[in-house]
Amino acid sequence: MTIPFIDLKSQYQALKTSVDARIHKVLDHGQYIMGPEVKELEERLEAYTGARHCITVASGTEALLISLMALGIKPGDEIITTPFTFIATAEVIVLLGAVPVFVDIELDTCNINASLIEAAITPKTKAIMPVSLYGQPADMDAINAIAVRHGNIPVIEDAAQSFGAEYKGRKSCNLSSIGCTSFFPSKPLGCYGDGGAIFTNDDALAQAMREIRVHGQSKRYVHTRVGVGGRMDTIQCAVVLAKLERFDWEIEQRLVIGQRYNEWIDSAGLKRVQQRPDRTSVFAQYTILLDQREDVQKHFSDLGIPTTVHYPIPLNEQPAYKHLCCPDCTPVAQAVSKRVLSLPMGSDLSTFDQQSIMESLKSAVS
Ligand SMILES: *Cc1c(COP(=O)(O)O)cnc(C)c1O
Repeated sequence: MTIPFIDLKSQYQALKTSVDARIHKVLDHGQYIMGPEVKELEERLEAYTGARHCITVASGTEALLISLMALGIKPGDEIITTPFTFIATAEVIVLLGAVPVFVDIELDTCNINASLIEAAITPKTKAIMPVSLYGQPADMDAINAIAVRHGNIPVIEDAAQSFGAEYKGRKSCNLSSIGCTSFFPSKPLGCYGDGGAIFTNDDALAQAMREIRVHGQSKRYVHTRVGVGGRMDTIQCAVVLAKLERFDWEIEQRLVIGQRYNEWIDSAGLKRVQQRPDRTSVFAQYTILLDQREDVQKHFSDLGIPTTVHYPIPLNEQPAYKHLCCPDCTPVAQAVSKRVLSLPMGSDLSTFDQQSIMESLKSAVS
């Protein structure tokens, strides 16, 4: 048995005609940088999320970096975030000389615990950066309310895993001052290389982000601010445009499979990441919690079923980061990082494979 962890081949087969046509159109018109597909994609994603501005960029990491740069983050500024995320979230903070202030997570959703944020705010706090982990939005309204109470601190949603998810009927990426997503191939909406996007309703921030994306350029060869080379390739935008054709269906499939997994796991008396009733997850990862993770992972691997751990080490325990913060101040993240295991998930995962995965899980823990 071979089940892919994420089945990008079947997805390409289903979309091959449109993807190929879209890519060939770019090859023919030759505007490989900032071609017409860039604007077309930005307009499509503005309509999709309801955000006033979408700025496509070179990656999800670049989206986060450009957002912090547009906010004018300086050395010594503090940014509140979660330790239980991909490294990029904290990396961009540290790259700018700012300080990540790690706040612990909720045990059930693994997202930042909004009720602990207020205690971490100081006069140096210049942004709050929650992550919508595994595809489920963090408690954005609670976080926004805290930010407003403390003088309108900007809130950046790291929505790299949650494009397409909803929170109280609103789309992820348009839930706070700024939303950042990634089109890395394995994300819920992926391209065939690196790509990302920033969303905001603030005209001045959007203008700053557009300039920073092109070396801080406001007019050709006039560099008003310091920027980066952060554009998304036209070909990658064309790929995302083709992928959008099937995206709603893919999300529906993910929800159906996620729900099915939930029922199986609950009836087997096992533990999993929970979804809150006021939001939908796009299940970028389907993640369970185990006490004997290594044994179960080995059992899966013996059966040819790939699994991964997102994430084995909280960021405040990473060698390059632990001196920046207290490594022991987020006990929930510490405990959860030893127990999480992500299972194969994706819109093209067959019912048969879903069943095999659940049977293997049950046999591994019995
Ligand atoms: C993938 C990811 C990123 C980075 O996105 P890239 O496009 O790979 O640069 C940032 N944050 C989180 C939570 C991610 O999962």
